[in-house]
Amino acid sequence: MTDSSNALEHYDVVIVGGGIAGLSVSYKLEDKSVLLLEKEELCGGRTLSMNMGSYVFNQGAQMIPGGETNVAKLADELGVTRTLINKTKTSTYMNGKFVTGSSELKFLLGLPIPFFEKIKMAFGIMRMRSRYRGMVDLSPRSDDPTLQDLSEMNLVERLGIRHPDVKAFWDSISKSSSTLRADEVAAFQPINTFLHHAADEFFIEGGTVQVAKALVDQTKARVETGASVTEVVSNDTGVSIQYEKNGESHTVQAGKCVMAVPAPLAQSVLRDLPDAKRAALSQCEYGAMSSAAFLVSKPSEHFFGKGNWRVPVVGMKTIGIGDPTFTFPDDMKQQDGRGLIRLYTGDDGSQMLQKMSDEEALDEFEKDLFQIFPSARGLVLDRALKHWPYAICPWRVGRLDYIDAIRAPHDNIHYCGDYTENSGLESAELSALRVVSEITIG
Ligand SMILES: Cc1cc2nc3c(=O)[nH]c(=O)nc-3n(C[C@H](O)[C@H](O)[C@H](O)COP(=O)(O)OP(=O)(O)OC[C@H]3O[C@@H](n4cnc5c(N)ncnc54)[C@H](O)[C@@H]3O)c2cc1C
Repeated sequence: MTDSSNALEHYDVVIVGGGIAGLSVSYKLEDKSVLLLEKEELCGGRTLSMNMGSYVFNQGAQMIPGGETNVAKLADELGVTRTLINKTKTSTYMNGKFVTGSSELKFLLGLPIPFFEKIKMAFGIMRMRSRYRGMVDLSPRSDDPTLQDLSEMNLVERLGIRHPDVKAFWDSISKSSSTLRADEVAAFQPINTFLHHAADEFFIEGGTVQVAKALVDQTKARVETGASVTEVVSNDTGVSIQYEKNGESHTVQAGKCVMAVPAPLAQSVLRDLPDAKRAALSQCEYGAMSSAAFLVSKPSEHFFGKGNWRVPVVGMKTIGIGDPTFTFPDDMKQQDGRGLIRLYTGDDGSQMLQKMSDEEALDEFEKDLFQIFPSARGLVLDRALKHWPYAICPWRVGRLDYIDAIRAPHDNIHYCGDYTENSGLESAELSALRVVSEITIG
């Protein structure tokens, strides 16, 4: 490997990581000289998407949250088209049964659990809505008493869940946002996710990666892809950043450095970390996820019925199954005649699948697909798979105690990314806004 560090380049800011968080910082720091370094050949991180048939398989994030969220405003500002996912059903696949209802109450009544448990669940959900509705997509604050309350124990303890099927239901909700079971994370995470599922969600035309592409097109920063950062060290004049690209080692100097990569990856390249910061970042272990898509020779609605976009799956390796064609026009879907079905796992399922070859892992997903939709047998035209070893940083009990230390900058190094908030695109965007104000206002 050669070292081309002789002519040292200097930037006001160097950003490590070209996911939504890092790209947003680069886009907003328009008055500074900025270099963004992204390890992969394509920016976007956990928003990558690929075309399948006439449709799009979002390998990572499949929707952006709507309403007044910062990420929705960003998409609009960038001129990226988003379409409301007009879901009209609440559904789940549980104990071999596809349960669906046009209202939450009808859905709950259809669940294959004892009547008494249904009533308990209905009251629990009503209480959740009235108490916690306001906290969806907010930046978690360490002095917020509601959040403190929800961060002290897990949901199973909090709701006194004893029935195994009710526990399995909440596990599936919890895994979809945290990758872990409901008894492994603070109550905050599954509650936030459940309320989130009922809120407005948007599909990005062309796939979620279009937001990242628009940011790359519209940022004034220099964006280097295929540039893997190997070392970040603070020094007297700012921060020195070393990276490898095409077998060559480069060093650049920055006034400030923004670490916009998952916490364990940040830790692996940062040298001389203060002990308090290392301890805080160590709280941010990630869970894995795997997603798969199957192009089939019948429209997706044939399997899902009308109004179902995302169906949590209880008690299986697959934790959710969804219809990526949901927002496409009906006449287009009828003319095309094909459908797309997306499945995904939480951490335990993904760990198991990552040990297999891609074909074997797809076979495992296919078994779940055929169990849920037996009529899909023989109709699969194409299939695709993506593993995410660093999918989501779960909100474990005790994390709130560290949230300020996780965010705190030191020695001209700033911390950005979804893990510095909760999880998801809005968290990534909130983190970018915070870092921009740290850099510009101080
Ligand atoms: C399967 C799945 C489904 C999801 N679904 C949703 C959803 O529907 N809605 C939602 O809001 N959120 C969803 N999320 C979460 C969402 O994708 C993330 O919260 C968000 O994309 C995180 O953005 P980020 O910029 O913080 O991190 P990332 O997207 O992880 O960006 C980090 C970047 O850093 C790069 N990098 C890493 N190491 C280095 C290095 N050494 N040098 C240079 N670059 C480096 C990576 O390649 C990556 O591009 C989902 C996530 C997954 C995995």
